[in-house]
Amino acid sequence: VPELPEVETIARGLQRVLPGKRIERVEILWHRTVDARSLAVASMAGDAVRSVGRIGKFVAMTLASGRTLVIHLRMTGRLTVVDNRVEPPYLRFAMRFTDGTKLAFSDARKFGRIRLLAGRPEDQLGIGIDPLSPRLDDRVFASLLARRTTPIKVWLLDQRKLAGVGNIYACEALYRARVRPRTRAGRLTKAARRRLLRSLRAVLQRAIARRGSSVDDYVDAEGLKGGFQNLLAVYGRAGQPCRRCRTPIKRIELAQRGTFFCPACQR
Ligand SMILES: [Zn+2]
Repeated sequence: VPELPEVETIARGLQRVLPGKRIERVEILWHRTVDARSLAVASMAGDAVRSVGRIGKFVAMTLASGRTLVIHLRMTGRLTVVDNRVEPPYLRFAMRFTDGTKLAFSDARKFGRIRLLAGRPEDQLGIGIDPLSPRLDDRVFASLLARRTTPIKVWLLDQRKLAGVGNIYACEALYRARVRPRTRAGRLTKAARRRLLRSLRAVLQRAIARRGSSVDDYVDAEGLKGGFQNLLAVYGRAGQPCRRCRTPIKRIELAQRGTFFCPACQR
């Protein structure tokens, strides 16, 4: 499932090619791909792409009209810009441009969703602060964690608190910060909180620099795999030696999600 670094990479790829393109029409090939709460996507005909960015785990396309098309890729959603005549497999939605190209949304498992919004998307998506936002300082982070009894690993995945962090980068950030995944969020020491926020950002930035992690079948908008999967310290490494202390990495389940950590150096 693409997380913040993968979605950032996809959005940057689209930002290189889409701005300025004029929308001729849209095609819905699987009706549920368009979220029921969406404005009518057909109304995008005649509009143009202003820019493409990321909000949490969503790709966000701002249109010349000021509206925003948000795309949640979920498990298998894939965005590519292709010639109009090309029909990628599992095509669910297409945005045709006047220059003979189209943005194709393919999605084998059909969990991906597209939604056209007017106004500030953050408010309507109900998502929390971006971990890379300069507004998130130690004080804000502390106030978000205060009195929370959820295990910190589970808290990090809650998109209403922090937008964009998923299973892979939550495990990696906790390892880097030497924090045990089960620790209750509100019980982290001040020092641990600071280490965690710094680690989270470092892990996300390094993953963006390597165009994300291709753990499942993730590829970016140009069809390229990420390079961060080879640098993962704990995720998917159960039984293998910790890179810091050689203790075997342990896997537990927290809120039904596989959670990897070093039992010796994460305290
Ligand atoms: Zn260790």
